[in-house]
This record gives sequence, C-alpha cells and structure tokens, in this order.
Amino acid sequence: MKTIIEPFRIKAVEAIKITNREERVRLIEEVGLNPFLLRGEDVMIDLLTDSGTSAMSSEGWAALMRGDESYAGARSWYRFKEAVQEVFGFEHVIPTHQGRAAERILFGIMVKPGHFVPNNTHFDTTRANIEFRGGEAVDLPCPEAKQPDLIAPFKGNMDLEALRALIERVGVAQIPLIMVTITNNSGGGQPVSMANIRGISEIARAHGVPFYIDACRFAENAWFIKQREPGYADRSVPSIVAEIFSYADGCTMSAKKDAFANMGGFLCTRDAQLAEEERNLLILTEGFPTYGGLSGRDLDAIAVGLREILAEDYLNYRAASTAYVVNHLTALGVPMVLPAGGHAVYIDARRFLPHVAPMQYPGWSLAVELYKEGGVRGVEIGTVMFGLNPHTGEEAPGPWDLVRLAIPRRVYTQSHMDYVVEVVAAVWARRAEIRGLKIKSAPRFLRHFTATFEPLT
Ligand SMILES: *Cc1c(COP(=O)(O)O)cnc(C)c1O
Repeated sequence: MKTIIEPFRIKAVEAIKITNREERVRLIEEVGLNPFLLRGEDVMIDLLTDSGTSAMSSEGWAALMRGDESYAGARSWYRFKEAVQEVFGFEHVIPTHQGRAAERILFGIMVKPGHFVPNNTHFDTTRANIEFRGGEAVDLPCPEAKQPDLIAPFKGNMDLEALRALIERVGVAQIPLIMVTITNNSGGGQPVSMANIRGISEIARAHGVPFYIDACRFAENAWFIKQREPGYADRSVPSIVAEIFSYADGCTMSAKKDAFANMGGFLCTRDAQLAEEERNLLILTEGFPTYGGLSGRDLDAIAVGLREILAEDYLNYRAASTAYVVNHLTALGVPMVLPAGGHAVYIDARRFLPHVAPMQYPGWSLAVELYKEGGVRGVEIGTVMFGLNPHTGEEAPGPWDLVRLAIPRRVYTQSHMDYVVEVVAAVWARRAEIRGLKIKSAPRFLRHFTATFEPLT
C-alpha cells in the first residue's frame, strides 16, 4: 500500500476549542502580538513546539503507575539509567528536569568567560546558557544550510573547514568543548550525517577537546541516516544510534523531544571525574543524583519512550507526516526550507513577505497572521530570536527569518494537517497586505518568550 498510516490508534482524546477569526484577532492583540503569551486553550492547532507535547503510549501511561517515588535509589532510577545506557552507551547518566538544566550544569563546569563553543547551530537555550557563562556560542553550519530551498540530504552538517579555522584562530585552549545538534533544530530540523559526526569527532580528538552531542532528536536523525546515507540502509536504528554516540564524549538531552515524555532530560559523560562535579552541581539545584528534579514516574515514562522512539514504523510515519505538509505547501508555491526535516516544517518568511524588511520581523508577523487566520500557533526562528546581542544591546537581522510549525509526536491526524495547509494557503493568498511589526518591550536574554509587539504604521 502507498498510504503510510498513523501506526497507532486513539484511546483518549482531548477536545479542541473552535474559535473564530474575530475572537482570535482580539486574543492575540490582548497579549501584545506574542503567540507565546496566548492561553493554550485559545489555540486550535498548537505547533509552537514538539517539546513535551507528545502523546504518550498506553505503555508509557502504564509505566507512570510503576513509578517508584523513593527519594534515593528508586527502582525507577535504575530502569531509567539502564535505558539511557542501553540506547546511548554512556557510563555516567545525570538526570535533569529538562534539557536546559543539563546544559546549565555542563557549561557551568566547562565554560569560562572568553571561551568559544562551536556547534552546527546552537539551540536558543544552549546559546543563552553559554552566553550567560560569558562564553561565545559560534554557529558553523555547512554552506548548503544557508540556501533554504536547496535539496541536499544532510543540511544539518557542521562546516568542518570552518571548525578547523576557528580552532586555528582562537586556539584550542579557548574551546572547552565542541558540540553538534542532531537534528539541527534552529537550522531547519535538518539531519547531520554519520560522516560529519565522525569528522567532528576526529577533529575534536586530534585537539584533545571533548565532543558533545545535543541529542534531542537523535532517533529522527538516525532515521535520516538510514534513509539517505550510503551504507546504512540495512542497519537497525538502534545500531545507528549506538554508532553516532560512540564518537562522542557525552551528550545533553531533552526527554521532551525524542523520548515522548512531557518532562525530563539528562546529561551523559564517559568521564568519572566530570560526572562527580556534575552531580555536585545537580544536588545544589536539581535534586539527588538518582532523580535530579524528576519524579520516579517521569523517569519510568522516559525509559519507555526512549525505546519506543526507535521503532521503524513510528519513524517512517513521523518523517512521512512532516513531508506531507512540506509537499503540499511547496506545491502551492509557499517558500519552505527544503527538504522536509523531522520534527517541523519551516516557512521561509523572508521570501513569503519580501516587502517586510528583516528588522520589521517578517517571521513574527507571519506567525501572528497564521494564528489570526486559523488558530494555528507556530514560532518565529529569526530576527526576534537571534537578532539581539545581549552583551552590547545591538540589534541586527538574524541569519534567516523562518516560521517553524513543530509537529507534536503522535498528536495530530492527517486532517489536522490538511487544515494547517489550508490556513497557510489563505495567508499566502493575502500576503501582499501583511505588514511588519516593531517591538514594544523586550528583555535581553531569550526575548522572544516575553516580548510584546505593535504593528508598524
Ligand atoms: C528543546 C531543546 C533543548 C532544550 O531542552 P529543554 O528540555 O526545552 O530545556 C536543547 N537543544 C535542542 C536542540 C532542543 O530542541
């Protein structure tokens, strides 16, 4: 059969409140044109993030009931630790309440003022945690990543020449670790090839610099390697995952992504000394090392999710359902980041609204219009998110202006996605009348979460 069906059936449902355009215009104006500040119930199709929004399986829910809430050494902890070790192959596992807590602990120990941390593209919390420590987060995406509509298999790759040049320029002593984000979330959800991961690892090892993977979407990345990289078609997903992490010294992970959990994260390392320092920081702010800010039931849900996410039927459906939206929008002429990535579709707002200058926030304007049109909530990945240097207060256009429509795992059906396509098509048809925005108020760090806006007059 040609049709790739959702490889699950639905056992519990959550009602969606249907709103009309007039209500939505009022609602978004009330929150200063910032979709992050809307009430979730006022959103019809919530594509703000795939983080913590996944549907758990009946096995995941059953695992919650097995949660052991002992303060220290709970059975849940051992099930969690064994699942993480089995999938990723790292000896030391530090549980955290989410990915950014893993980042804060890792960078709190490794990053000092004046340091540089290279990555293919830093996720926003990763960048902010490095900058908060006084370090500089350096993005080194491959040249193909800069051409949104270029079809290439691994546009998430890091530019290895640029990595060598950075090491040469700033000196290896100033680089506490090298990171790569799989898949490259802020760079269009594009995968990183095994060859690139191996290449980064070789450079890191040659210079004695630790190599860490931001592992949030490790299973989707492994699936793309299986589909697209020569030599991997017959390999199992778990064995591809094991190979990926064999090249690294550690990883940070948000279990809210490729572990189907609503909350959780972890930090892994092979270095016993570092793990001890990390546990000391963990105790200070997260919790005892066998729970790290998580309930026993959360640890159990993650243990189940980490194994479920490796199922090929699931990953095949996941990639196909994302590609479905990208293919339909591309056919309508909507400028998209191509090819389809794993967890989200990205609309190229600079080409969608060429009459809105980057400093007038075309991505943000488009996100606001998608909400007004159909109650669809997406997020700007562009000048609002990346345009402010928090140290100097200077503002400049971001590297691109995209609207990301992230797709929660196993939550929406194909008819929901047909509706999303219809909403984007309606905004596309009236794009000439859409104007830019200006910022009314904003903080310096992670300003997109709380900034307010007003229309340009
Ligand atoms: C979500 C995410 C993080 C941060 O994880 P949280 O659980 O939201 O704190 C880090 N890196 C990437 C690539 C992410 O997608």
